[in-house]
Amino acid sequence: MSSRTEPSFRESVDLMFNRAVSLMDLPPGLEEKIRVCNATYTVRFGVRLRGAMHTFTGYRSVHSEHMEPVKGGIRYATGVNQDEVEALAALMTYKCALVEAPFGGSKGGLCIDPREYEEHELELITRRFAYELAKRDLIHPSQNVPAPDMGTGEREMAWIADQYARMNTTDINARACVTGKPLNAGGISGRVEATGRGVQYALQEFFRHEEDKAAAGLSGKLDGKRLIVQGLGNVGYHAAKFLSEEDGARIIGIIERDGGLFSADGLDVEAVRNWIVKHGGVTGYPDAQYVEDGAVLLEEECDILIPAALEGVINLSNAERVKAPLIIEAANGPVTAGADDVLRKKGIVIIPDMYANAGGVTVSYFEWVKNLSHIRFGRMQRRQEEARHQLVIDELQRLDDVMGGTWSMSPNFKDKYLKGAGELELVRSGLDDTMRVAYQSMREVWHSRDDVTDLRTAAYLVSIDKVAKSYHAKGL
Ligand code: GLU
Repeated sequence: MSSRTEPSFRESVDLMFNRAVSLMDLPPGLEEKIRVCNATYTVRFGVRLRGAMHTFTGYRSVHSEHMEPVKGGIRYATGVNQDEVEALAALMTYKCALVEAPFGGSKGGLCIDPREYEEHELELITRRFAYELAKRDLIHPSQNVPAPDMGTGEREMAWIADQYARMNTTDINARACVTGKPLNAGGISGRVEATGRGVQYALQEFFRHEEDKAAAGLSGKLDGKRLIVQGLGNVGYHAAKFLSEEDGARIIGIIERDGGLFSADGLDVEAVRNWIVKHGGVTGYPDAQYVEDGAVLLEEECDILIPAALEGVINLSNAERVKAPLIIEAANGPVTAGADDVLRKKGIVIIPDMYANAGGVTVSYFEWVKNLSHIRFGRMQRRQEEARHQLVIDELQRLDDVMGGTWSMSPNFKDKYLKGAGELELVRSGLDDTMRVAYQSMREVWHSRDDVTDLRTAAYLVSIDKVAKSYHAKGL
């Protein structure tokens, strides 16, 4: 155990920010303007439940309004506090800038354990929270657009959207007041899987660059790589599922609230997820070794470690023992500033949170655009695209006939080529492009500057530069 003390989450983010800005040449005062959180609202409201009045405390923090609306999820957890939402709001600012989602950063939270309430109670609480935020313009299509985060999902977003619409009956853009809604309430295909999908695309892009793999002491493809995932919630589950089913990675460890599972041969992600849904945890899962203190698996040998749960899980107490050569931060802030120093010195490569989990807000951006344009992506072009492809197929067929049937198209080519892109294909294409371009912007800084030795600093440099330019354009 180190004698150094751990800073708070927000201080941790600030320390990483400071490390990056010390390498920049920002005009005096601008550095502080970007770093500080513009405002944090605390709301306390009462809801009558089970015959008694219950008071709840919620927050919505706005970190930077250099672009509006500001964007960021709302989390439901007992540990929610001002420091945490401010740290998360700051990360949203940098995340949006990095992936070129045209938003400022915000975050919200409600101190609640959602598992302790019935669905109709959660609806009452959520609607009341939404009312408190909306009447202060902290939910608004052009000012502040929440989304799901830990403990919330499509259901809560649908309630929020409906509450806002009730309060703003003539707002034609009301649906754009929140993202992550179900499809039938103005959502977009592929939003639920988006953050996990983004983690997959991020790793695929990392593995396209020999120099970057070499920096982590890795080589070859994702196929066969040993992964340990912490948290099989929405993000961890989708990331583990896609990486194992589509890229051939082997999930050798899964860490959950009640312990960890280990199997050198690889775990069946779908089976583990089903077990958790049925039994409330991983305990008792038959096809793996169970470890009561799941956190020790963070220190197990593997190729890639994916913390996809809470902040601060890799800290000064365990960083020295982490063996994974590559960490991809699917969660926000899983590595503390102190642990970051330790891991960097050990030569561990970290794909930072503000990039790694940006898939969620990226697809939120697409959903917001869809809501404002009032039309589903692909609706106009899909059949036209298919008709043009049909022309090519017909022509190939005609040539084949002229040649007397001496050659033929490969199996499946016709079906695959004919299929025009629907909303899901377009969302995935937009997300893949976003993750590739953002990665390349980070790696360029990483490799071109001697004073930048890690991807996190590179990510901060790229995003702070964008935020600074945006302030500059406003004349600040
Ligand atoms: N809560 C997610 C995040 O931390 C998504 C935010 C959004 O879609 O606005 O990035």
